[in-house]
Amino acid sequence: MSTPEQVPPAAPAAPPAPADNVLAVSAVQVEGVTKVFGSRKSQVIALSEVALSVEAGEFVALIGPSGCGKSTLMRLIADLEAPTSGSLKVFGKSAAQARVDQDYGIAFQQAGLLPWRTVADNISLPLELHGASRGERKRRVAELVELVGLTDFARSRPDQLSGGMQQRVAIARSLAERPRLLLMDEPFGALDEMTRERMQAELARISAETGAAVVFVTHSIPEAVFLADRVVVMSARPGRITEEIVTGFGRDVVRDQKLREDPAFFTKVTEVREALHGAPVGSGSSGAEER
Ligand code: ADP
Ligand code: MG
Repeated sequence: MSTPEQVPPAAPAAPPAPADNVLAVSAVQVEGVTKVFGSRKSQVIALSEVALSVEAGEFVALIGPSGCGKSTLMRLIADLEAPTSGSLKVFGKSAAQARVDQDYGIAFQQAGLLPWRTVADNISLPLELHGASRGERKRRVAELVELVGLTDFARSRPDQLSGGMQQRVAIARSLAERPRLLLMDEPFGALDEMTRERMQAELARISAETGAAVVFVTHSIPEAVFLADRVVVMSARPGRITEEIVTGFGRDVVRDQKLREDPAFFTKVTEVREALHGAPVGSGSSGAEER
């Protein structure tokens, strides 16, 4: 992973277990997953027979109406909930094992920073919890604040930062242990449009640099298209995956303002919009997704 160019696929560095062979195993493999909340009297089928796989290094955006189960799916992958039925693997392991092994970093809508800790100490928290030495932590935190452009704010406390900066701290923290997978649930939901676009470009750069797989939940169609290799569209009640759209903008395409103004970008935005809401009447394709 440290040498991006020309690693021969046949020579992984002595994997401790077959499940750790990143080259062969999907980052996320969800099969026939159903999640039901509540008791027999008042049941909510949050997810029904969901299948989703995310390859190592792939950026997948999850989009769908409010309440369609996006957060539930993320919480299942992160082992914060258990499926009612179906199978779920993270790098070939159970979600619980992947959690123990710190295979993923999480950034959700609320930055969730500890207000009494500095930026540096917030970022270093996961490293502390997993016993990294003081020297290691210092080095890693310096890299991370640099990566998210907050070097000058390392000693600040969260309440001295704007919302966008706090969100960058949360992203830096999620990257602290160099996870192969990032789970992000509407991480930019609370930001103004300009900050949001800057953060999107920043995340695109970070994910390209680290090569981590990303599962990214959003309400925003342009955000999904801008960031993702593949946009997965969900429908509500019960939450199901109805369509998948490959953006075709590879990892080597620079995600910048030019891309947002590219006709190919608009084409994909329209494709995702129609998958979500149905095509306009008379356009030929069916709007059967809407019920
Ligand atoms: P989304 O993130 O797409 O808006 P959620 O995954 O948060 O949707 O919720 C999907 C459905 O599951 C909703 O109807 C929601 O009310 C229900 N739900 C989510 N979590 C719980 C819970 N802990 N208990 C009961 N119902 C829940
Ligand atoms: Mg949600």
